Amino acid sequence: MMTRAFLLRALTKKTKFVASNAHRSISITNLSRYISTLILAEHESGSIKPQTVSTVVAANSLGESSSISLLLAGSGSSLQEAASQAASCHPSVSEVLVVDSDKFEYPLAEPWAKLVDFVRQKGDYSHILASSSSFGKNILPRVAALLDVSPITDVVKILGSDQFIRPIYAGNALCTVRYTGAGPCILTIRTTSFPVTPITADSESKKATISQIDLSNFKEDSASRSRYVGQSTQDTERPDLGSARVVITGGRALKSVENFKMIEKLAEKLGGAVGATRAAVDAGYVPNDLQVGQTGKIVAPELYMAFGVSGAIQHLAGIKDSKVIVAVNKDADAPIFQVADYGLVGDLFEVIPELMEKLPEKK
Ligand code: FAD
Repeated sequence: MMTRAFLLRALTKKTKFVASNAHRSISITNLSRYISTLILAEHESGSIKPQTVSTVVAANSLGESSSISLLLAGSGSSLQEAASQAASCHPSVSEVLVVDSDKFEYPLAEPWAKLVDFVRQKGDYSHILASSSSFGKNILPRVAALLDVSPITDVVKILGSDQFIRPIYAGNALCTVRYTGAGPCILTIRTTSFPVTPITADSESKKATISQIDLSNFKEDSASRSRYVGQSTQDTERPDLGSARVVITGGRALKSVENFKMIEKLAEKLGGAVGATRAAVDAGYVPNDLQVGQTGKIVAPELYMAFGVSGAIQHLAGIKDSKVIVAVNKDADAPIFQVADYGLVGDLFEVIPELMEKLPEKK
């Protein structure tokens, strides 16, 4: 047992963030008609990403008799595999629209935004949704600009077809927003707030129709300022940070790239993903795609373990929906303990090896 340390139980179960009611008004409302939603789907290696399925779950809250279309673009056999999977990813998806073209082999935001506008003109969509991933956050504001409407970002709750809740001030307050624009309502969805419930065998057999989109009338943006240069990915068996059930995070206290490997080994043993604070990323211990928080990834795992993390408000903004938060910090007054379910005051360089020893070997 950890004899030197003692357990701090957080005074409250978790900080409940204060709700406020800031409303925004634009112009004429237009959303009482039939709800028809277009979702920008993300896929990789022939599979639909979990955040797209969560976005479908969110779309279901927009109202009854909602029709949901998924838009997939890319090229080759992996796109067609992903399309086939998309057709049965959720029973409420009615249609999968596929754009198979070299132009969309890589998800560049400018041509994608044009594509969404092109597809939108063919369907009568009341809502256009994407997840609040870097993909969605890159494309949808551009679509909104093309349509001259105001997008609503980071939606955590849908109250109806035109009313949404989104966090403001780094998650310290929740803002209720009413959309009163004349064009389609454009939303990015914080997918951790819309968990996917298991699909029954009966509804699993429901398949959406798959249609290929003809691009012969599609006009490319000749003034596009971006071009694809390349991408580098890390080969890892660890789960994706945004959807992992267990996340192990290290902060500045890890002090070096070498020491940060302790976090990686612990994550490996627990079958979890690795996260980091911005201070750890800025210090170069890990790449910035592992950053958790307001300007990093938003996570909501079953178990979140933070080692040497102070608990700055910008970090907490990314972890507040975690089911159980465990914090290890040598400062008993560190703010992380105010949101932790289990807190351990101790030196991580002693606690982690002890924990590694006590945990059973991974089978
Ligand atoms: P520190 O605050 O330095 O905390 C280190 C902690 O480790 C301390 O509490 C210390 O007591 C403890 N410690 C030291 N040694 C040990 C040891 N041996 N064992 C155990 N504990 C030890 N931050 C994010 O994380 N994510 C974001 O997305 C993010 N976005 C930001 C956006 C903006 C606009 C701004 C201004 C800031 C943002 N930040 C973000 C930065 C944030 O404010 C903090 O600076 C950062 O989270 C601190 O990281 P840290 O907890 O690792 O470091």
